[in-house]
Amino acid sequence: MAERQEKTFKFVIVGGGIAGVTCVEQLTSQIPSGDVALITAGPHIKAVTNYKQVSKTLEEFDVEEKPSSVLEEKFPDLTVIHSAVKSLHTETHSVETADGRVFGYEKLCICSGGRPNLLMKENPYVLGIRDTDSAQEFQKHLCKAKRIVVVGNGGIALELVYEVEGCEVIWAVKDKAIGNTFFDAGAAQFLIPSLEADKPEVAAPCKRTRYTTEEPAPGASQTFTPGSALGPDWHEGIALRGAQQVRQFVHVLGSWPVYIQLTNGKTFGCDFVVSATGVVPNTEPFLHGNNFSVANDGGLQVDDHMMTSEPDVYAAGDVCTACWKHSPLWQQMRLWTQARQMGWYAGRCMAAEVLSEPIELDFCFELFSHITKFFNYKVVLLGKFNGQGLGPDQELLVRCTKGQEYVKVVVSGGRMVGAVLIGETDLEETFENLILNQMDLTPYGEELLNPNIDIEDYFD
Ligand code: FAD
Repeated sequence: MAERQEKTFKFVIVGGGIAGVTCVEQLTSQIPSGDVALITAGPHIKAVTNYKQVSKTLEEFDVEEKPSSVLEEKFPDLTVIHSAVKSLHTETHSVETADGRVFGYEKLCICSGGRPNLLMKENPYVLGIRDTDSAQEFQKHLCKAKRIVVVGNGGIALELVYEVEGCEVIWAVKDKAIGNTFFDAGAAQFLIPSLEADKPEVAAPCKRTRYTTEEPAPGASQTFTPGSALGPDWHEGIALRGAQQVRQFVHVLGSWPVYIQLTNGKTFGCDFVVSATGVVPNTEPFLHGNNFSVANDGGLQVDDHMMTSEPDVYAAGDVCTACWKHSPLWQQMRLWTQARQMGWYAGRCMAAEVLSEPIELDFCFELFSHITKFFNYKVVLLGKFNGQGLGPDQELLVRCTKGQEYVKVVVSGGRMVGAVLIGETDLEETFENLILNQMDLTPYGEELLNPNIDIEDYFD
């Protein structure tokens, strides 16, 4: 293999999603002539733009899908290699790409993301949504469909059932309430009317990505290459309309291309099934012949320096599983924000190692925080927002105004440990502070959510 080795780079990053690109940016800014290579399977990279720190831990940003040349222009010392990594040889510190080239590395960071955890593989009637290609495939099927079954209860399923029009949607959910990954039954009840109501005619301007791709160049390879995961607003610019002209549900008698049987014994016919049941980390090309510790969820285990169990190999984003001792207020979720934070922190750790500088776990891993939108409502999640891992030692305070806001606070031992804020509550900063400073809130009791009290003044 040594003769075929094209070049050894100081840093090799695998994956052009948010985690990989942020890692590259961080490395190149800390070590300007760092000799960095980005190896990525997809034709485009994901770039974070308009980054805004909303509060101590909450952040918002736009994501743009761009040709990789944009990165090369910005960082002249960066080499972008378009090919998928086929195998990794940790002993010789080298990777082999699908087009047969071999590259050496001194430090490697694996940011290869994940792929949909499909109910059934290689069934043409079961689709997953991950990247631009699969979203377009979904759209192609949808425009001819009269009925689809959506399986899953996370963010993608939530968005799908809200966005799809002109097609009957059967939503198969194994939990007691919708949106179980993010919400409890109360929040689900708050959101359900939005599914039944008419959507606003003109959607609010989209602040984030527009997923447009160019047609492949003539003669370009049509073989499968895993692209970057989509993310917020992935459906913008994609008409999610089925074959029916009206929005209301219809029951069409007759035979269907595929039937799905649920565990409650019911069977439904449909045009196709969307499997939105989470992701599986893309680890396969890296495992063979190496000794990675792999977590139960299939991710590469990383420590508090984003290092895997193999020397000089780091990992970040959806492909990894955070195995350090977590702060009591943080948990890993395979989300856009965490992909950025991990990529950025992995870049810092790699640079610190080379520069022999000490580095401590970043503050962003102190408190879980996430801003998103569901059913057109702003949603802020903080800390142990669903009482994760708290057992019976938790108390919930809830305030809800139908169609306007839903505020839930999780209190444990008199301290606020989590919150769900749906709507324009304007409470995120105050609650973030209360969670971070772990103030004893026992004296305030239910007054904490009294709408007639300006809570900000209260705690000044
Ligand atoms: P990815 O973005 O998956 O990037 C992986 C990269 O690795 C890609 O460039 C791929 O081409 C490359 N690659 C893979 N294998 C190889 C290989 N062998 N060799 C070389 N390159 C390889 N998160 C949110 O926070 N909010 C949301 O609203 C939200 N909505 C989502 C909606 C959809 C439809 C999907 C699919 C995801 C959504 N997510 C959302 C999750 C979010 O998109 C991911 O957590 C995030 O993009 C992960 O980033 P990543 O860089 O780790 O991986």
